Amino acid sequence: MDLNSTATLNNGARIPWVGFGVFQTEPGEETYRSVSIALRVGYRAVDTASYYRNEEDVGRAIRDSGLSPEEVYVTTKVWNDEQGYDSTLKAFAASKKRLGIGKVDLYLIHWPVTGRYKDTWRALEKLYRDGEVGAIGVSNFKVHHLEDLLQDAEVKPVINQVEFHPFLLQPDLLEYCDRQQIQVEAWSPLTRARFLDNPVIQEVARAHGRSPAQVLIRWDLQHRVVTLPRSTKENHIRENARAFDFELTGEEMKKLDALDSGTRIGPDPDSFV
Ligand code: NDP
Repeated sequence: MDLNSTATLNNGARIPWVGFGVFQTEPGEETYRSVSIALRVGYRAVDTASYYRNEEDVGRAIRDSGLSPEEVYVTTKVWNDEQGYDSTLKAFAASKKRLGIGKVDLYLIHWPVTGRYKDTWRALEKLYRDGEVGAIGVSNFKVHHLEDLLQDAEVKPVINQVEFHPFLLQPDLLEYCDRQQIQVEAWSPLTRARFLDNPVIQEVARAHGRSPAQVLIRWDLQHRVVTLPRSTKENHIRENARAFDFELTGEEMKKLDALDSGTRIGPDPDSFV
């Protein structure tokens, strides 16, 4: 397994298990530089969003990388104030244009905006049927949002991108998504660096001669969760790419799982929108 290894989604499309996140990476040089480094290091997936205001820089880094755009899996998302049927179609066209690589591999509903996400989903279904996008999915959906969406959906989401790390395990959501063949994808997999000094994570890291960040990425992979670590530093970007050549024991996985306290770093989808 390496940065080229892919998970197969429920529509047959394939997404790299480890992608590169750019939330809060400054638009302009910082994003261009970070994505350029990541592509050089070997990452083959980038996760952006219209909300991040850096789609242009992601696209520019891909175009300048010497890789063909087909070699890089690109995800972007429709923001909350863009939701609704017509406005989503418009938002997608604008995102695609800003990216400037002639394609979007995965388009996600960023948050389940009450009263609007079903219309938004119909727009995503149209984009998918029209061949405008390789796959469609959701983000920050809880089980009740997914149950509600699936009542009317004609196309099933391929992915649910949610906050996921040992402090927020969400076993019910994992189990539901597994049953529905919806791939879970982790945001803030490194806890935004807030809990890297946790003694359990540190102990597991020491036992393998690895860093806490590598342990968290590895933990995602062993849970069969696609993961999106973010960094602006070359040493961290390289470090985070080396989570494939060691394995956590069953005991270590259990110890990390036991850190679950339902702690969120980001907003709760039920109160955010
Ligand atoms: P992460 O959990 O990836 O943490 C990023 C932080 O960790 C940065 O401060 C970074 O700092 C630091 N870091 C990275 N690598 C290391 C390392 N090896 N050692 C120590 N510190 C490290 O947080 P994000 O919230 O950015 O989540 C990742 C991605 O998920 C986002 O970029 C975005 O693509 C997606 N996301 C999606 C959301 C959604 O609603 N769908 C919400 C939030 C994120 P430094 O730059 O100094 O390395």
